[in-house]
Amino acid sequence: MDCVDGCPSQALSYQAGKIVRDKTLCSECLHCVDICPTTAWEKIGWEISSADLLNIVLKDQPFFDESGGGVTCSGGEPLQQTDFLLAFFQAARQRGLHTVLDTCGYVSLEKLKSILPVTDLILFDLKLMDSELHEKYTGVGNCLILDHLKMLSKTDQEVGIRFPLIPDVNDVADNVTSMIRFLSEETRFRSVDILPYHHTAEAKYERLNQDYRLKKRSISEPSVVKHIFRQFSKAGFEVKIGG
Ligand code: SF4
Repeated sequence: MDCVDGCPSQALSYQAGKIVRDKTLCSECLHCVDICPTTAWEKIGWEISSADLLNIVLKDQPFFDESGGGVTCSGGEPLQQTDFLLAFFQAARQRGLHTVLDTCGYVSLEKLKSILPVTDLILFDLKLMDSELHEKYTGVGNCLILDHLKMLSKTDQEVGIRFPLIPDVNDVADNVTSMIRFLSEETRFRSVDILPYHHTAEAKYERLNQDYRLKKRSISEPSVVKHIFRQFSKAGFEVKIGG
């Protein structure tokens, strides 16, 4: 097999009729993709400079001029590439585009602060108020995330909260009540997008050959979504479903 022999890290082996990649050895050089005769491996994504990306975006400038629209960088986590994002947003702003950052909030304070001067709106994900549960489901606690929201609340940064629902994990009464209390008491942010759970991420995981652990979870019940919508509305929030 060309790829097994060609892998510089000896990460590929032929086992029981299949080529297996050892992730602990793989350096992600993508040489196996380049030499695969059957195109069984696929590169996802490509490298691009911030200037070239802006040129692509600017093809829609007449539309932006008409609508007052702009660009949203989401992920993954855009702040994993802070230097790129900074350069891109700076250039986009210079061309009069509105800039939006969609973040999970689990980033260093330094990175977050660095992007504020060139960001018109931050869409900030808030998932679980209990730090232990947050760690259980996302791998990290939520203290940093909540601290960032409190910090942002003391600035004049525009922030919209995004609440992605996972049935029986964070759409439960305790979590919703705690979230409303936290936002009301600790922040000035009153705009919330409720994002009902759906299965569209499943295909992405499949393409990346990764296990999708939420596979068996059903989509959000409309009655539960409506109930959460009413709770936030009643507490004085401007709420949207979707967004
Ligand atoms: S990406 Fe590079 S290191 Fe990883 S399996 Fe392919 S050739 Fe080997």
